[in-house]
Amino acid sequence: MNVRLRHLYSRWPCKATLTPRFTPLTTKRCHASGSREAAYPAPRPRRVVYTSKSALWSSPIHPILHCAYEENFEVPSSHKRFHDEEVARLPNTIPLWNAREVALELVGKEAYQTCIMPNIWLRENCLCNECINSDTLQRAVDTFSLPQDIQPSKVVIAKQGLQITWQDGHQSLHPWAWIENHKGLENNLNYRIIHRKEEDTRVYWGAEIADNPPSVHYDEIMASDVGVGVWTEKIRKYGFCYVDGCPVSPKKTEELLRRISFIRETHYGGFYDFTSDLTMKDTAYTSLALPAHTDTTYFSDPAGLQMFHLLSHTSGEGGTSLLVDGFKAAHILQQEDNIAYGFLRTFKLSAHASGNEGITITPSKEFTVIEGFRVANTRDLLRIRWNNDDRVTPRLSPATAGWYKAARKFNEILKRKDMEYWAQLEPGRPLIFDNWRVLHGRSAFTGTRRICGGYINHDDYISRWRNTNFTRSRILRHIL
Ligand SMILES: [Zn+2]
Repeated sequence: MNVRLRHLYSRWPCKATLTPRFTPLTTKRCHASGSREAAYPAPRPRRVVYTSKSALWSSPIHPILHCAYEENFEVPSSHKRFHDEEVARLPNTIPLWNAREVALELVGKEAYQTCIMPNIWLRENCLCNECINSDTLQRAVDTFSLPQDIQPSKVVIAKQGLQITWQDGHQSLHPWAWIENHKGLENNLNYRIIHRKEEDTRVYWGAEIADNPPSVHYDEIMASDVGVGVWTEKIRKYGFCYVDGCPVSPKKTEELLRRISFIRETHYGGFYDFTSDLTMKDTAYTSLALPAHTDTTYFSDPAGLQMFHLLSHTSGEGGTSLLVDGFKAAHILQQEDNIAYGFLRTFKLSAHASGNEGITITPSKEFTVIEGFRVANTRDLLRIRWNNDDRVTPRLSPATAGWYKAARKFNEILKRKDMEYWAQLEPGRPLIFDNWRVLHGRSAFTGTRRICGGYINHDDYISRWRNTNFTRSRILRHIL
């Protein structure tokens, strides 16, 4: 079999980062069964060892991770070979290491992928019981007491992962799935846990959602966390969900909302219960029509979820609610006018809330209208900020006029009839939606409406969604 050490060395992407002590490789065959050896010239040989010993599972690794990888060992498709019982295939992955890095050539379906891992990174992120606090799961390694030039004394390719013995005798095991998680394009937890694994569960919708809007029964949510899991998964999937059978009471509505998380306070208060008047100095508190928008674009961290529960509407009519899937609109924008989409992904703006005496809120920095992980991909968007009334004067730059043209196109898409889902809110049927994705508005109304509701932070909602839809060990696998 052809050992690819030379090949790897020639592909090592950053030769400039190599230590001067690193010298070109020679390879030789080792006839001991199942192992291959890479011999280095002086000053010292660095041996790569392959092993099939399942006893490696007794290697030090934090119990919760041990459990996660052992019981639910999902081998990334690019590493399928590791999952084969045939250990003979393992030598297809070749590690090399020097004074700074371990280089791993991963054999994918179609190509080789070189993964460079600094020694200090591997050592600091050891997954063992000593290196992760067993109670808090926080890092227990004092990174800065480790030598910056820390080195392995032995690197072993094991079936379950990369096993390293460090010069001080400490041992680490990094499962293949862990390496897969931490290399890659986006070292962002939301990307890793939500989008890579679950991106396809999100459904983009238009006006046709009126035929079958997502809903969950109040009793199911109040009965157990399983119900909360169903509810939050529907919010993840569609960006909104109704709750049927809710008592027409602010107190019960607040209890319902708190099933997801604590309620976020703003300068308007926490859980609210209001009738339309102008005490709050914001058009949301009037009877005027509101075009589709997202709330709190003036915060660095806009409100995540919002709930509306119409408690009563007397002596009048109108006030139909409008929802628009902002991610679908962004997707259409990219399809129809990629340049406009680019403007909304890159041109940064600010917003403000200054209507109340003594309050002027602006985000701590400017943000784009559309935020996401990969520019070319509209299946893993993160957030839409769209409130034309709260936006402040865009700064002058050569791109300013282009932004206006792009925003006009986006506005036109948002207002298409087949994008708009109109529905009348009803007492006993609260609506909750993801303010980072779904825009909301309403038609004008007459009479008096009493509405209660509140906001929940996006991070707290996502945490609740994860913890009611996945096992704790599966979640932590993506984090630690
Ligand atoms: Zn450790």
